[in-house]
Amino acid sequence: MDYIKILKEIQSEISSLYTKGEVASYIPALKDVKADDFAMSLTLMDGSYYSVGSDDLKFSIQSISKIFSFTLALETYSKKIYKRLGVEPSGDPYNSLAQLEYENGIPRNPFINAGAIVVMDALISNFKDTDITFNEILSFIKKLSDNKNISYDQIIAESEIHSGYRNLALASLMKSFGNLSHDPRTVLETYFKMCAIKMTTKELSRSVLYLANDGFDPISGFKATSEQRAKRINALMITCGHYDASGEFAFNVGLPGKSGVGGGIVAVVPDKMGICVYSPKLNKQGNSLIGTKALELFTTKTGLSIF
Ligand code: GLU
Repeated sequence: MDYIKILKEIQSEISSLYTKGEVASYIPALKDVKADDFAMSLTLMDGSYYSVGSDDLKFSIQSISKIFSFTLALETYSKKIYKRLGVEPSGDPYNSLAQLEYENGIPRNPFINAGAIVVMDALISNFKDTDITFNEILSFIKKLSDNKNISYDQIIAESEIHSGYRNLALASLMKSFGNLSHDPRTVLETYFKMCAIKMTTKELSRSVLYLANDGFDPISGFKATSEQRAKRINALMITCGHYDASGEFAFNVGLPGKSGVGGGIVAVVPDKMGICVYSPKLNKQGNSLIGTKALELFTTKTGLSIF
């Protein structure tokens, strides 16, 4: 397949959409991006790589990081982690409080904010220290992307520490239900640092290859997780990876995917490739508007959806 030709077609077809959507501004430092930046990268199982646009631009991965922290939590706690969070789509926005209240502080899934905060709390309990926990997550991502040059953006992390009251409310509510071991602010500081990790589309498309390959990286051989857990993570990406637009993403794109409010989306084509697209303007549900369309065009043009 001529992937470069397909990517170039996509790049030209999405250009009419640049006027639509809004860059996330509820984390003030996130809006300091070029609104019309675009990049799309594919990494295939043999390491060959195709891309268009600003594929060397490091952007804030935000909730894409939840895939990596959840993988680590599964490695650490196995099924026990599901005592503290569910595996159902929420049908609610990523930061909704209402559902958490009537479901007694148990988040619906690991990919909404409340779920990822519980995952972070569990990882801190395991690694005993917040800096060690953050470094374990970062080195896991470095291994998956086979790249040591990955770090986080302190300005974005601090911006979220100063503005993340809704996440503080979620964490405090879970603490009141006994589903958080540590102080909400301590957990959130590490969670915000993780969300502020910056990566390129190239690095991210490489980092999710383990999910296309039964849990191990086909190039380095690094075993990130078991085949069964990789299956579960992909299933959760399909059902919960795009918050209350997860059904729509499955309907239009048909791949396991995970978005972040920084404007990135990763997707996995089983046995074939990892994909990442970046465009910072978001739709109403907080997912990259052009990124979603670009992935829809990709599966339509290539027939590479799981359905
Ligand atoms: N750091 C963001 C938050 O917690 C992540 C949300 C997202 O990327 O969807 O609000």
